[in-house]
This record gives sequence, C-alpha cells and structure tokens, in this order.
Amino acid sequence: MKPEENKMEKIVSLCKRRGFIYPGSLIYGGLAGTFDYGPLGVTLKKNIENIWWKMFVENREDIYGIDAAILMNEKVWQASGHVDGFSDPLVEDLKTHRRFRADHLLEEAGVDIKGMSFDDMSKVILEKDLKSPDGNKLGPVVNFKMMFETRIGADAEGGQVSYLRPETAGGIFVNYKNVYDSFHPKLPFGIAQIGKAFRNEIAPRDFIFRVRELEQMEIEYFIDPKNWELEFENWRKSIWEFADAVGLPRENVHELEIPDADRAFYSKRTIDFEFDFPFGKKELYGLAYRTDYDLGRHSKASGEKMEYLNEETGERFLPHVIEPSLGVGRTMLAILSSAYSEDTVEGETRVFLKLSPAVAPVKVAVFPLLKNKPELVTKAREIFVALRKEISGVVYDESGSVGKRYRRQDEIGTPYCITVDFDTIEKDNTVTLRDRDTATQERINVDELVKVLKNKIVLN
Ligand code: ATP
Repeated sequence: MKPEENKMEKIVSLCKRRGFIYPGSLIYGGLAGTFDYGPLGVTLKKNIENIWWKMFVENREDIYGIDAAILMNEKVWQASGHVDGFSDPLVEDLKTHRRFRADHLLEEAGVDIKGMSFDDMSKVILEKDLKSPDGNKLGPVVNFKMMFETRIGADAEGGQVSYLRPETAGGIFVNYKNVYDSFHPKLPFGIAQIGKAFRNEIAPRDFIFRVRELEQMEIEYFIDPKNWELEFENWRKSIWEFADAVGLPRENVHELEIPDADRAFYSKRTIDFEFDFPFGKKELYGLAYRTDYDLGRHSKASGEKMEYLNEETGERFLPHVIEPSLGVGRTMLAILSSAYSEDTVEGETRVFLKLSPAVAPVKVAVFPLLKNKPELVTKAREIFVALRKEISGVVYDESGSVGKRYRRQDEIGTPYCITVDFDTIEKDNTVTLRDRDTATQERINVDELVKVLKNKIVLN
C-alpha cells in the first residue's frame, strides 16, 4: 500500500475512533455517500463555518447572509438548467452491472478529457478497449441525472415534484429580489449562505471528499459587468485568505484556470482551487464569473423584474455575478489531511493533528497531575471553570496517566494542555503549559493563564 493511501486509512480510522466522523447509518450497515459528524467533528465543522461567516458576512457591509429552504419550487431548477443539464457521464460494467463515472475512469487511464462530449468518451472507451476496474467490458456512456427527486404534498396524484437542492446557490438567486427590496443595496453586493446540498453521485468515494449529502458555503456577488476583472481578482485573493485562516498550507493549494472548452457556456472565467489530498490533487473550491446567466434565466422564467437601477447614471441592467463556492467537507478533509502527523516522543510513535487553534475543536485541556489527590482536583477544576468562561473549547480530563492524557489530546489536535501539580498548590501558583507540536512545557502563573492562552490562540 502506498504511504499516502495508508495515511487516508489512518485519518478515517482516527475520525471514527475519536468521534469526528462516523459512516452514516452505521448500525444498519451504512448508506453509501453519507457521514455523520460526531461531537468533535461538528465543532470542527462549526469552527470552519464560523470563520467563513465572520470573514464574509459579519465583517463586511456589502454581504447579506440568508438561510433559504432546501425544498424549492421545481421551476427554480428548470430555470437554472439543472433539471435538463445536471448530470454526470455514467458507464456500466456489462458483466457485474456496477456503475462508474466515465470521466474518472478515462482520467485514471491517462486520457485527457478536456472538452470531451459523452459521445467522445464512448468512442475513446471503445478505441482503447478500456475495461471496468473489475476487468470487464464497458457499455456506452450515458447521462445520469444527479438531482434527488421527491414529491411534496398528500394529494391523490402523488403531489408536486420537488428536488433536494443540488447546490445552495439556487436559494440565493431566488432571494436576490427579496434582499434587494428590503435593503436597497448598491452594487457591488453579495448574498451568502451556508447549507446542505444533495447530489446523487454515481460513485461516492474518498471519505468525505465525494458524498451524496454535502454542505456548501456559497456567495453570489452581484456586480456591474464593467468591473468584473477587478472583482474576480478580489475574490481570488479572498479565497486564499480564507484558506490561510483555516490553516491550510499554501503550498498544498493550487489554482487551475479552466480552459474555454471546459467551462460552462455562460461562464467567462472559472478557476478551480485544488488541494493535494492524500489521493491526489483534486478540486477543493470553485470560483466562477457567471455573467447575468442566472438572474436572466430566473427573471425570464418567473416574470419578475430583476434589473438594477444605477441612480447616478440612470442606467438599468441585470447585475452580473461572481460565485465563490466552497465545500465544508472538502475544507475539513484538507485540514485533517494536512494536519495528520506522526513523530517519536520518548521512544514511542505519537500521532497528532497539527490543527490551527482557530479550527481545533478542543483548544485547551486542563488536568490534575493525579486524580486521587483532592487538592489537585479542586484546583484543576477551578482553573477549568475559570478558563471556559473566557475561551471556547476548554475541557477537563483526569482519567489515566498524564502521559496518556497528552496522547489523547494530541490525537484530536488540542494545541495546549495545562497540568496542575504540587508546585501549583504548595509553591508558586504556576501550572505547566504544554505545546502540542513541540511537546515542550513551560511554567505559567495561574493569574496569567487567560492572557497567555488568548495571545497564543490568536497568534497561531
Ligand atoms: P466535482 O468536479 O469534484 O464533482 P463540482 O465541480 O461538481 O465538483 P461544484 O458544483 O463547483 O463542484 O460545487 C462547489 C463545491 O462544492 C466544490 O468545489 C466542492 O467543494 C463542493 N462539492 C461539490 N460536490 C461535492 C460532493 N459530492 N461532495 C463533497 N463536496 C462537494
């Protein structure tokens, strides 16, 4: 097994064992493409989302947050083009009837699929006599629709067709007019949303990289088309700033300019941000200039006017849009795979997650040196209670030896551990503060702890 594959296995196993991420519906054998976030995973996820929300909604005057319904009128997805066009190329193993993504099989066979239609893919499969991963002949490439269809209502005809939204962007476009009418913003302005999206992926794989129920953080940033190049450049930089803020190493993030032939016809420029995952360089985020395609389609289909009036020049036009689209799960997987580390401490292999304190689910753990010494326990609990009033993500632990507690905290990425010992209560009111990455300790006065920790957590 390649070391990087081995690393993925170790991450998946750590995530399950320590309560970050569990396979969905596990006691019933699971459900492919779904995962449940455990107590540490949900905190890590919320930390990522909060950084995004703070950076792009709270700290900006030009972006409005919303939370739209997941179920929407089917006309939304007809107008957006998803009902007809949101599909992936599917190919079937003619013997086992297992189904695969044709583009992925071709890429794995070294074929450059840029600009290929589904028919082109079928031809290449035939020409090269490509086999399925099980070694059998493959059928023709067909269109596989990725939206989950459902029915709403209890009437005899079976209700009205609806879809689980395949992206959060639809909810944003439908609320463009609402936000515009409520707040009268001037261009440029954006609408932001974090939420679930659903895609019936042909082959969910690579842990939480490709799932059927996912979470996205999306912004539609409405602009005057005259300024699109400048605004696009600003968003390109903002994505890098976000990647820095969640602690992704810059050397593992790469921009991929999507060539004309591979872009959606309405997009004038698209950049994919890719990340070096243990299973290869793959899409992390997308940034697209989508012109006025979406508002144009919704305005036409709904009959609602969506034009913007520039009060200074008297010009009326449909705003154009730039869309930074970020996956929460892929951010988390990028964070976990770059944070996963092993070293040797006191002759033993130590596993630790080098999480940035900004995203770490537990930021500080407080221990008494011994749990059977009430004076140590009382002091440690006192410090724990005081700290958690000031800092989020503080836990108390007294089970097992201190060495074991350090290992447990290292494994979940806790940046700092504090131990109360006899010097604390008998000598100088100091505790040890241990750094996860270096495993070194320093003594800090209890009265200084909040200040020292706050500085460290912000500085890192
Ligand atoms: P891919 O080519 O990998 O299928 P995509 O180009 O279809 O992705 P977009 O439609 O641009 O993806 O979605 C925006 C973002 O949503 C992606 O950059 C990714 O972070 C996230 N995302 C999309 N599909 C999935 C999925 N099945 N599982 C997890 N995250 C996803």
